[in-house]
Amino acid sequence: MPFAALGLPAPILKGVRAAGYAEPTPIQRKAIPIILSGRDLIGAAQTGTGKTAAFVLPILTRLLEGPRRLRSLVLTPTRELAAQVETNARDYARFTNLNVGVVYGGVPLPPQERMLRAGVDLLVATPGRLLDLFGRLALRLDYVEVLVLDEADRMVDMGFAPDLKRILKLLPTERQTLMFSATMPPELNKVAKEAMKDPARADLAPSNRPAAGITQAVYPVPGNLKTDLLDQMLSRMEVRSMICFTRTKHGADRLARQLQRRGISVAPIHGNRSQSQRERALSDLKRGRIQILVATDIASRGIDVEGISHIVNYDVPHTPEDYVHRIGRTGRVDAVGDAFTLMSPQEQKDVMAIERFLGRTIPRVMLPDFDYKMRPKEIAKIVSSPDFGGGSGGARRGGGPRGAHRGKPAQGGGGSARNPHGSKPAHAGGSHRGGSSGAPTRPATAGSDAFGRRPKPIRGIDRRRGRL
Ligand code: AMP
Repeated sequence: MPFAALGLPAPILKGVRAAGYAEPTPIQRKAIPIILSGRDLIGAAQTGTGKTAAFVLPILTRLLEGPRRLRSLVLTPTRELAAQVETNARDYARFTNLNVGVVYGGVPLPPQERMLRAGVDLLVATPGRLLDLFGRLALRLDYVEVLVLDEADRMVDMGFAPDLKRILKLLPTERQTLMFSATMPPELNKVAKEAMKDPARADLAPSNRPAAGITQAVYPVPGNLKTDLLDQMLSRMEVRSMICFTRTKHGADRLARQLQRRGISVAPIHGNRSQSQRERALSDLKRGRIQILVATDIASRGIDVEGISHIVNYDVPHTPEDYVHRIGRTGRVDAVGDAFTLMSPQEQKDVMAIERFLGRTIPRVMLPDFDYKMRPKEIAKIVSSPDFGGGSGGARRGGGPRGAHRGKPAQGGGGSARNPHGSKPAHAGGSHRGGSSGAPTRPATAGSDAFGRRPKPIRGIDRRRGRL
């Protein structure tokens, strides 16, 4: 189905063509006609599904007719997401005379006040900064006809519910409200009830389904060896661009330093970094100047870098929702990517919660020839113990993650930007080669190894060296 069949006007279609989109994504096909009809909408869609265009295109269509003033407001949880939505909206609006603006915290107010005074038709904002500007009389909200709550679950998670309620009171009650959210926690349900009238629902990407095309794997590893394992993985894979997630800002800084010391080009991105530092890190990743971005969950929401080849959960995320959001940074629309989770024994519970949420287990994978610093007996015990999923049905045999461990030394890996400093030639085992996300898997049985294999539970161990 072409975009033209959705009832969008010529200047908007021109913008879509210029963005290079051949046809609408499923959420766009479903949501655009509903939004054009003027109905409220709850879209259960995560980032990576094309949801931004799904709401921006019909909004721009509406704004083409009628007076020029602030008639549409998009609220996002983070400044990165705000900047991203604004960039997309500007792109789609480039063949119209509509003005798109963005405001978020962490940067000076006066330029934003000037921009607002000059007039915008569509404003993208983070809630706190919007209220600050409203308090300074920099904008009026009484002409807003369409309100979008983007990544609404995240806004509530981040404690923005009171700000959202205040903003709702400032807006006209006669308006269209669109809410996009990967999940629907109870507090958000309350906000939705207050804010929306008989909303239609477009549940196209069920909240617990990561976008198709992402290959997932869990790497069991003692916590103190995570950086060594990551280093080895990097030297054996073709990593174009990777985002590594840590739970804390401190952890992100520490990991970035550790990787830097090993000659890997990396930058951290989290709430303590200034706006310009974050923007520089993102643009460096986009341009291939750095290979790895180390990020916290807060930072992850707004990251939209095309062609991220790998996501690594250096720390297992606190909640299954965060897992889905984190791995949503790869596999965007038509792309494919790999998402690996490094799991210490203490994190096993969190991984199991994620698996329950996803409704499936994630294959356990161990890196051949990596020194897990254990004797073969200890390893056998670990990989077949419930702690590492071996005996609990958590471990699966499957083709390894696509593209991982192709058995090449890092130096030879085409596309690997890894500085060879400190890297060793890899001795990747064939068992890790080439599977795909849809590769058939077989549940492990008691006593099987992390790949579900019996009766050789720890194939891949070089028994003489006692290593995996
Ligand atoms: P979003 O889910 O809005 O963050 O979009 C994810 C990515 O998909 C962005 O990089 C968009 O530019 C891209 N995108 C959106 N719609 C389409 C489409 N119809 N065809 C191809 N790519 C798209």
